[in-house]
Amino acid sequence: MTGRFAPSPSGRMHLGNLWSCLLAWLAARSEGGGMVLRLEDLDPDRCRPEYCAQVMRDLEWLGLDWDGEPVYQSRRTELYAAAFRALEGQGLIYPCFCSRAERLAASAPHRSDGTAVYDGRCGRLSEEERAVRAKLRRPAWRVRTPEETVSFSDRLQGVFEENLGRDCGDFILRRSDGVYAYQLAVVVDDAAMGVTQVVRGSDLLSSTPRQLWLQDRLGLPHPEYGHLPLLLAPDGRRLAKRDRDQELGQLQDRYAAPELVGLLAHAARLIDRPEAISPRELIPLFSWDKLPKQDIKTDRIH
Ligand code: GLU
Repeated sequence: MTGRFAPSPSGRMHLGNLWSCLLAWLAARSEGGGMVLRLEDLDPDRCRPEYCAQVMRDLEWLGLDWDGEPVYQSRRTELYAAAFRALEGQGLIYPCFCSRAERLAASAPHRSDGTAVYDGRCGRLSEEERAVRAKLRRPAWRVRTPEETVSFSDRLQGVFEENLGRDCGDFILRRSDGVYAYQLAVVVDDAAMGVTQVVRGSDLLSSTPRQLWLQDRLGLPHPEYGHLPLLLAPDGRRLAKRDRDQELGQLQDRYAAPELVGLLAHAARLIDRPEAISPRELIPLFSWDKLPKQDIKTDRIH
């Protein structure tokens, strides 16, 4: 059994990232599993090398360890390119010339996560039309999704299913600037790194059917999934990097690492009172059955 940390080094981690990392680590270590670290630094506009180093220092500060060398997605483009070509070989990929405004106009709201369902119009262009458009704009690349229901049983959220064609639509695997999309990189890397258990925030629950489907297309195994409740700002918003008071730099001024771990462990219902404790001491206390399923407001964590 192998779990993973998959932080995006686009800034300092916030309380929500720590929550996911702590629980992913406990889920793996409590079963005697391995834990690997992957820095999801594919987006050159948002990610910086110094943030990668900071993420690793922060995990260590919290008392979380990993096995082997960290993996940087920015160094693995060849692997994503190979997977992309394999999908292309199956006739599943097409260029999309839509601008941002056109994309919005060609989309209906997504059922579960508020993102848009693209209507597939560029997938219906003739070769001639493609050639004309290609002179004007560098395309993004989409994968054609079938009207197929993908269903899986989540460790925490129970059965979740989605009809890919209807609820998700054709999604982007490579941006027009050449950057491979998260959905592709994550399935390639989870398989290549031997990840068998994915524990992450439930904001990614609706990405999972896409990932399961891509795994099947690429002949890759399915990990098991557990999607955690999210930590929310007091007004009910999802925590974001702009919530400075929940950023680790600020939290470190207020708490020692075992205190912060204790607060998170208490919110996860692994301990009765929010007392200082180390991740290692929490290992025997971890159980999926104890974890809450509802999102948690951060003003209730203190
Ligand atoms: N890098 C993503 C994040 O930090 C997590 C992706 C995943 O766990 O699959 O939100």
